[in-house]
Amino acid sequence: MALSLSERLSRELSHLQASGLLISPRVLHTPSRAHVRIDGQDVINLASNNYLGFADHPALKEKAAAYLREWGAGAGAVRGIAGTLQIHEDFERQLAEFKHTGSALVLHSGFATNQGVLGALLQEGDLVVSDELNHASIIDGLRLTKATKKIFKHADIMDLERVLQENDTDGLKLVVTDGVFSMDGDIAPLDKIVEVARRYGAVTYVDDAHGSGVLGADGRGTVHHFGLEHADDVIQVGTLSKAWGGVGGYAAGHADLRELLINRARPFLFSTAQPPAVVGALSAALEVVRRDPSLMQRLWDNARYFKAGIESLGFDHLGSQTPITPVIFGEAPAAFEASRLLLERGIFATGIGFPTVPMGKARIRNIVTAEHTRDDLDKALEAYGTVGRDLGVV
Ligand code: PMP
Repeated sequence: MALSLSERLSRELSHLQASGLLISPRVLHTPSRAHVRIDGQDVINLASNNYLGFADHPALKEKAAAYLREWGAGAGAVRGIAGTLQIHEDFERQLAEFKHTGSALVLHSGFATNQGVLGALLQEGDLVVSDELNHASIIDGLRLTKATKKIFKHADIMDLERVLQENDTDGLKLVVTDGVFSMDGDIAPLDKIVEVARRYGAVTYVDDAHGSGVLGADGRGTVHHFGLEHADDVIQVGTLSKAWGGVGGYAAGHADLRELLINRARPFLFSTAQPPAVVGALSAALEVVRRDPSLMQRLWDNARYFKAGIESLGFDHLGSQTPITPVIFGEAPAAFEASRLLLERGIFATGIGFPTVPMGKARIRNIVTAEHTRDDLDKALEAYGTVGRDLGVV
């Protein structure tokens, strides 16, 4: 007899429970901001990706509401059939101009973008070389292709070169890396990666989910940070769901990239277009970041201040180069206990353990935003000091 659904569900859930991987998302009773309410308690939020405070920004909400009123609640169809509204195309032009690229296309999420772009671009006979710590959506996107897949050691240029030396093809060669790595907060050595990739005739593909809105002038991203934005052999993808405050993903680069994706990217072809309100919010986000440079300034001042504080308490933050600030606690139970104790002290920050990060490197991952005040960060540092001493980590 076939397995029943309840048996499948209960077995899988018990398995997750036994391996300590069962999650139960916390519910926020306020919008995503620097301060949120959880279980009736007001806490300082160090757990979101809301780098610029755009998730609940008045200018984004205003333009979202205006687009909602003018253009409706939904787009009505997939982009390729009848769902491409003027505002979608206008926003894509705005984004390409912001990114200094020949073209840009917007998809439904960063996750869907990796699926769509990698799936559209790569064919049998192509070679793709991917950093071992790349995001799950890249791994899943690569699973959709028949290209030969090879892995290089994290941010290791010599290893990348070794893989490119050992594997050749007449097809397309693609080197794939995150721009900023989401667990350690390090920046990919993109200048060196592109240089090696070019020597072997390879194109570079950068997932800039955590670099866009954070690095480069006005938050133009990691590619801009390294001055590579005009390069036709660099493809930038990323999310509009973190710093940019809405939801969506984009691919930007070569002038012909957009047209190929319109014809081949499966999420573009088979999933309904983004609703007008989201497009309005995102369009406002690009306007705000350009007219208010103090946002980026505050983000980086806060990031530097918090990291210096964490360091002087005696914690290890793995030398993070971005507002992502991991605080190492060792084994997973210690990180989870620290997260619980921090919450008791009014600090919301999530514990992350194996297999998301290596054994012995369980951590709390903090993301400092432009919205945090010095007082918020001082309170968080004070709580970290107490919890770290209580757990014998510092
Ligand atoms: N790529 C990276 C590197 C990410 O960190 C994320 C977000 N978890 C994504 C892609 C997915 O983006 P989105 O949340 O817009 O689907």
